[in-house]
Amino acid sequence: MSDPLDSEAETRAERVEKVLLDELHASVTEMRGSWEGATEDEERGAIRTMRERSPENWVKQVFADVWEEMARTAFKVHSGYLGVPGVPVEWVDQYAVSGTEPGATTGVPNGPPVIDFASYSRRIADLTPAWRPVPSDVSPFEAPSVARSEIMIFNITAYGQTLLNEFFGSGGQFRRVEFQAPSQIAALGKKVVINCTGYGARALWQDETLIPVRGQIARLVAQPDVHYGVVYRHVLAVPRRDGIVVQSFAGGAMQGYGEANERPDTAESERAVATLAELFSPALWRFA
Ligand SMILES: Cc1cc2nc3c(=O)[nH]c(=O)nc-3n(C[C@H](O)[C@H](O)[C@H](O)COP(=O)(O)OP(=O)(O)OC[C@H]3O[C@@H](n4cnc5c(N)ncnc54)[C@H](O)[C@@H]3O)c2cc1C
Repeated sequence: MSDPLDSEAETRAERVEKVLLDELHASVTEMRGSWEGATEDEERGAIRTMRERSPENWVKQVFADVWEEMARTAFKVHSGYLGVPGVPVEWVDQYAVSGTEPGATTGVPNGPPVIDFASYSRRIADLTPAWRPVPSDVSPFEAPSVARSEIMIFNITAYGQTLLNEFFGSGGQFRRVEFQAPSQIAALGKKVVINCTGYGARALWQDETLIPVRGQIARLVAQPDVHYGVVYRHVLAVPRRDGIVVQSFAGGAMQGYGEANERPDTAESERAVATLAELFSPALWRFA
């Protein structure tokens, strides 16, 4: 029996490819009079023109479909690591405790204007269980509104180890090189190069469209008996087996936008942990 995720992804990938190819075909033909014999450089130039001419259409038509396809593929691949020794990936419960918080900031004072970021989570809402209200008589928290859901998380240490084992087991090798310019990559003389240099691509490819977004994460000592995450007063806690991750998103969508500074901000982490601690005080936590 064919896997519905496979056939769905294939159809979507084909559709994306067709939109891209049609647009590229038209753009190259417009630039040089004919599609026949176009060089890679000419194709790249045409793609740039397409993006610049109508970035919104480009994003709306193509990116959303590509994003959804990637998200569904990632979910499927991660699901394959459930139940594997070392627990690289697992489902955990998560609670959202609300009704006591001030609104999140929508922008940063004197910061860049608030951007209307794309939001695609509804496209993949079928992948994870929906939030359900927790009746107050069975809720572990004393708060106006408590909801519960489940989320798939990865445990970085075990997950990294699993991937490395697979990589080395398949004959992979590491060579450490820092590329200063794309010409060094071309000089490798390889038929295929997978360029996944993350934020490093900004300098390597002089691609100023890559915007850094700073985040501040605190890690608490791992608690093996804690198997649930919480969202409370714009603080998120994720119970990773290698340490509980705590992060504030009180600054809203623009928090850290454009900030390349990687210095830890201990005060921000301490505020986030203090907020989380409130939730486990007798006033709100029924098992205190
Ligand atoms: C502390 C922390 C926690 C996070 N937690 C989560 C999470 O829970 N869930 C989640 O989805 N995301 C999380 N993220 C974000 C996630 O890690 C990134 O989005 C993801 O790693 C980006 O993947 P990438 O392959 O694009 O880039 P990267 O993982 O950054 O990989 C890029 C690689 O390219 C190398 N490189 C760069 N430039 C060069 C060069 N010139 N020459 C040679 N090599 C180069 C870098 O050294 C690096 O190894 C977290 C990030 C951080 C920092």
